[in-house]
Amino acid sequence: TQPFDVESIRAQFPALDQQVHGKPLVYLDNAATTQKPQVVIDTIREFYERDNANIHRGVHTLSARASERFENARARIARSLNAESEREIVFVRGVTEAINLLAHSLSDDWQAGDEAILSELEHHANIVPWLMLGQRKGIVIRTIPVNDRGELELDALPGLITDKTRLIAVNHVSNALGTVNPVARIAETAQAHGIPVLVDGAQGLPHGPVDVQALGCDFYACSSHKVFGPSGVGALYARGDWLDRLPPFLGGGDMIEEVRFDGVRFAPPPSKFEAGTPNIEGAIGFGAALEWADGLDWLAIERHEAALLQRMTEGLTEIPGLRIVGQAAHKVPVVSFLIDGAHPHDIGTLLDSMGIAVRTGHHCAMPLMQCVEAPAGTARASAAFYNTLDEIDQFVAAVARVRDMLV
Ligand code: PMP
Repeated sequence: TQPFDVESIRAQFPALDQQVHGKPLVYLDNAATTQKPQVVIDTIREFYERDNANIHRGVHTLSARASERFENARARIARSLNAESEREIVFVRGVTEAINLLAHSLSDDWQAGDEAILSELEHHANIVPWLMLGQRKGIVIRTIPVNDRGELELDALPGLITDKTRLIAVNHVSNALGTVNPVARIAETAQAHGIPVLVDGAQGLPHGPVDVQALGCDFYACSSHKVFGPSGVGALYARGDWLDRLPPFLGGGDMIEEVRFDGVRFAPPPSKFEAGTPNIEGAIGFGAALEWADGLDWLAIERHEAALLQRMTEGLTEIPGLRIVGQAAHKVPVVSFLIDGAHPHDIGTLLDSMGIAVRTGHHCAMPLMQCVEAPAGTARASAAFYNTLDEIDQFVAAVARVRDMLV
């Protein structure tokens, strides 16, 4: 087994090599967004410099080149997720849009009183669209509870399923606590009842290859910016003929076969779900990011990330009055914490003055913050594989200093 060469990875990320407030940047806000490798930056710049044109409708050379690159990116995403076909991949703005699309299109034949099962660990992106649907159509939301280690209580799932359950929608990895959820087991239970499963993969893909067929999910949503690609673009995977069966979400150009004032016929999927000019350069940059990531040694990365998590957890545990929120057995290197007598916002501000970037607040998971008794939210350090053990040591020492300053 090869050791993980973190320095040669870091060298590919220009943004990591800078000072903040006169201190070397320690970037531990990767669950919010990741930095971009040079190859992604270059891909987008070269697209603008050579191939920029609108896609799909043009007969001219630049449009053909741009269309080909856009469709190649779709094929790359299909390969990275192990989808059966690139026709199962819809480009969206990100996980938020993917879930809004499904809340709209899946619910076409749902009735008042029909139920969707979510979990207490969800991000608002996988809560609010369903609550809006509840307000509009009388859909009832049920939730898989979370235990005090921040893990889903799967034993409760069978009892939540009724003959009105239309969907189970859960995240792959919790952005707030780092818990890796047993989505394959959830999908197995759902399948036995004929219920479709949506996985919010925003935090799944950044921590290792995803195989949607092995997970057994019907839908998988991801955001490029969380996986070292550009913002404003993401993908929705929909298994098999789901996209044929679902009505479209947004209407406009590019998603139609024929338009007349007395009727409209839609294009076959995935075009049916891609109205208007998409984020062309974003999709191409997303493809470049996944191609780059696919070339990495993910077994070595897994070991490195486990070491980062262990160092963070052990270091923070030594600090008096500090509570780590969420100690799941299976986690990515994301650590949410509280310090007695200190507000998370003040912790974050002081860490920034030391060059360390973390996130503070409710992490778009207000219901979860209630469950874990952190109503003011937490401070959260989220590592990526380009972080070093040395950076974790600097972070832990800085948190100890911050505690002495605030308490
Ligand atoms: N779900 C999870 C678990 C997330 O972490 C995020 C981003 N913070 C989202 C959904 C929303 O993703 P986006 O903002 O890219 O649409």
